[in-house]
Amino acid sequence: MDQAPHIVILPTPGMGHLIPLAELATRLAHRHGFTATFVTYAESASTAQSAYLASLPPSVASLSLPPVDLSDLPPAARAETRICVAAARSVPALVQLLRELKEGRNVVAFVADLFGGDSLAAGREVGVPAYMFFPSNLLMLSLMLHLPALDAAVSCELRDLPEPLKLPGCVPVPGSELLSPLQDRKDDAYAWMVNLARKYREAEGILVNTFDEIEPEAAEVFKKVQVGRPAVYPVGPLIQTGGTSSADGSGCLSWLDKQPRGSVIFVSFGSGGTLSTEQTTELALGLEGSGQRFLWVVRSPSDAKADANYFDARSAADPSEFLPEGFLGRTRDAGLVVSSWAPQMEILRHEATGGFLTHCGWNSTLESVACGVPMVAWPLYAEQKQNAVMLVEGARVALRAAEAVGGGGVVRKDAVARTVRELMEGEEGKAVRYKAKELQLAGARALAEDGKSSMALDQVANKWKGLLV
Ligand code: UDP
Repeated sequence: MDQAPHIVILPTPGMGHLIPLAELATRLAHRHGFTATFVTYAESASTAQSAYLASLPPSVASLSLPPVDLSDLPPAARAETRICVAAARSVPALVQLLRELKEGRNVVAFVADLFGGDSLAAGREVGVPAYMFFPSNLLMLSLMLHLPALDAAVSCELRDLPEPLKLPGCVPVPGSELLSPLQDRKDDAYAWMVNLARKYREAEGILVNTFDEIEPEAAEVFKKVQVGRPAVYPVGPLIQTGGTSSADGSGCLSWLDKQPRGSVIFVSFGSGGTLSTEQTTELALGLEGSGQRFLWVVRSPSDAKADANYFDARSAADPSEFLPEGFLGRTRDAGLVVSSWAPQMEILRHEATGGFLTHCGWNSTLESVACGVPMVAWPLYAEQKQNAVMLVEGARVALRAAEAVGGGGVVRKDAVARTVRELMEGEEGKAVRYKAKELQLAGARALAEDGKSSMALDQVANKWKGLLV
C-alpha cells in the first residue's frame, strides 16, 4: 500500500473549478508530500480539461465517474440543476470508487467543491472525512450558509427584497444582484441551491479560495468558532501557476510587447461569458470611444444566454462577421481582437496591461488581484453580480460599468468609454489602481512560507495527516 497521505478531489465541471483545485493539490504535494486523485464527471470531459489534468505533476492522478443519465430533465433546466442532479446521482458510483481507492492508498480526506453537497455523503459512507473546497469568496459562502434561514424567513422573490441583504461582515447586496439561480424561486435550480446550502453544514471543514485582506471584516467573522458551522480556512489566492494556455497562437503576447507600460485594458468574460448582439456593438464602440488601447477576447454574440459558452469557449463565427462595420479597421493601431480564448494569466502579468474589464468570475478576479491589475466590473451570471458589489464597494479594486436606466440591462457605449477611461487614467481610477497594488502585496504575503493562507492550509493538512493509519 502506498503510504503517502492521499486526498480524493471531486471538481464540478468547468475549468474555473478544476484550476484552483489543481493548485490546492500541487501545494499539498509540495508542502506536505500529499498525493491526489481527481475524480471527474464523464460529461465534463472536454479537451481543455483532459489536457490540463495530463499536465499536472505525477503525484496527481485522475479518474472519471461513469456517465449519468440526465435525459429526464427538461431541456431548459439550468446548468446548476444539471450539475446538482449529476452529483446526487453519482453518489453510488463515487462510494464504489472511494472504496477501491482506499484499498491501494492511504486516503485521508475527500474534498468536494461547491456543487458537491450531496457528494459529501459518499466520503462519510466509506469512513473518509469529507471537506469542501469553495472556489469563491466569503460573501458567497456566507450567503450559502444563511440561505436556508433566508428562504424560510422571506416569502417574496429575493430580487424584490425591500432592503439590500446584509450578511455578517459583508457589504450589503441588493436582492437583484444575488446569485443568479436564486433570482427565481419557481425554478428547480433555486430549490437545488437551498438543498446544497443545507449540506454545506455537514462538511468537516470548508477551505475557501480567498485571503483575509480582500474581505477583512468577513474574515474576522469566519475566524470565530460557531456551533453548527464547519471550520472555515481561507487558503487563497490559489491561481493557475502551470500552463493552460502558454502557447501564444493568437499573438497577444507579442502584441503586448509592443505597447507602452500599463496602457492596455484586457477585456474578457471568462470561459463561458457571452454578450448579446446589441451589447457586443455597444462594447466595441465604447472601447473605441475610450481612446485606450485594448485586448479583447470576443465570442459570437448570443441573445439567449449569458453563459452560452460555459462548456465550450469556442466562438461560432469570425469576429469580422459580428463586430460593427469598420470597427476592426478603425481600431487596428489601438486594439487587438482575439477570438474565443487567450492566455489570460500571461496577459495579466504582462507589464503593458493596466486594467481588466472582467465578468468578475472569482478565478479571474484573484488572477487580476495577484497581478495588481485594477478592474472594470462587468458581471454576467452565477455569483458575478454580488462579486462586483463586493469588489466595487468593499475591496474597492474595481469600477462598475453602469447599465442604462430602462435600457434592458445594456451598458451603453458612452458608459463603457467613460468607465474604461476613468480606470486607466482618471482620479477615481487612481484610488482603485493603488488599492489593486496593495492587495497584490497582501495576496503574496498570505501565500508566503509563513503567510496566513499557508498557515491555514498547514492546519488542515496536519489534521489530515493525523489521520494516517
Ligand atoms: N481563462 C483563460 N483564457 C480565456 C478565458 C478564461 O485562460 O480566454 C481562464 C482564466 O484565467 C480563469 C478561468 O479561465 O482561470 C476562468 O475562471 P473564472 O472563475 O474567472 O470564470 P468562469 O469561466 O468560471 O466563469
